[in-house]
Amino acid sequence: MTERIYNFSAGPATLPEPVLKQARDDVWNIAQSGIGILEHSHRGPSFRSVIEAAESHCRELACIPDFYDVLFLTGGASSQFFMVPMNFLGQGQTADYLVTGSWSKKAVKEAKRYGEVHIAASGKDSNFNRIPPTSETRHSKDPRYVHFTSNNTIFGTQWPSEPEIPDGAFLVCDASSDIFSRPIDVSRYGLIYAGAQKNLGCAGVTLVIVRKDLVQSATEDLPTMLQYRTHAKSGSLYNTPPAFPIYVMGEVFKWILDMGGLESMAEHTREKAKLIYEFLGNSKFFAPFADANSASLMNICFNGPDADSEAEFIAAAAKAGFSGLKGHRSVGGMRASIYNAFPREGCEKLVEFMKSFERSR
Ligand SMILES: *Cc1c(COP(=O)(O)O)cnc(C)c1O
Repeated sequence: MTERIYNFSAGPATLPEPVLKQARDDVWNIAQSGIGILEHSHRGPSFRSVIEAAESHCRELACIPDFYDVLFLTGGASSQFFMVPMNFLGQGQTADYLVTGSWSKKAVKEAKRYGEVHIAASGKDSNFNRIPPTSETRHSKDPRYVHFTSNNTIFGTQWPSEPEIPDGAFLVCDASSDIFSRPIDVSRYGLIYAGAQKNLGCAGVTLVIVRKDLVQSATEDLPTMLQYRTHAKSGSLYNTPPAFPIYVMGEVFKWILDMGGLESMAEHTREKAKLIYEFLGNSKFFAPFADANSASLMNICFNGPDADSEAEFIAAAAKAGFSGLKGHRSVGGMRASIYNAFPREGCEKLVEFMKSFERSR
């Protein structure tokens, strides 16, 4: 195959074409240095300007206040499941978790190793097809922090806005699958983390935005690499960082800025998702999985009338050049992941295809 096709994969996912083309050039020779991005020393001036630009574009994009550190870490979002409680949850302290799907459950499992975990709300009773409303949330008496997953990649639900939290607690967010798809008021958060391979670039780096006072007050009784302090003090250069993934993330930040920033991303996102959800709402064959108020604009999960027709649809779609539409194995059905870089045209084409598939039944 010589043409690129529509890739609805949930992650690693579609990247912006201008970023891929720039990366192709910079792998060979970056900024006329005569050396490619994969080969530069992480201590040299070429990489230094890459990582500095990535940080400053990130700060510009999300208007990140100076009292936050921006860190580029390894170990995936999954390592943040333990790094957060390791650094911030002392013996006898409680953290509240809002459980809205598989990733929050994994975060809970790791936090339990370090302190008390209180499940303040859970969508389990309705198989995570909705975000629990505030009226169903019961916080513990004095939580150290409240953790939530802003977009549930597997179940296709998304928080419409940040949850309210008790005074004295700070908010922690796993934003791996919707970060920078809409404006974000960073000052409402203690810590935000996101693996890069959904909305920010390629696998290998995790973006962490964290309040400096929290970093300073975190426990020091941890292996050096597992303290946020270490990476904050060294500008994410304590050890060899994931240089290429940081480079790609920086290019994606630049691309989002060129596209008009987060407001503009949000508009594109709403339009793309609307095309698909409107079709699903009118279809007699397909049905959306999530409650309308909780439906994700990033991962659109939907079902057919039965497993056999779903398998038929997925196979026919793959043949027609729509890749990655099979739902996560724990949910079944279909999932169209349409992150920032996924083109609107691909959503239009998918709807056309679904219409003709439905007509053919
Ligand atoms: C993909 C994903 C993760 C896991 O990310 P890794 O980088 O593979 O560890 C965690 N949380 C959410 C919401 C995700 O979508």
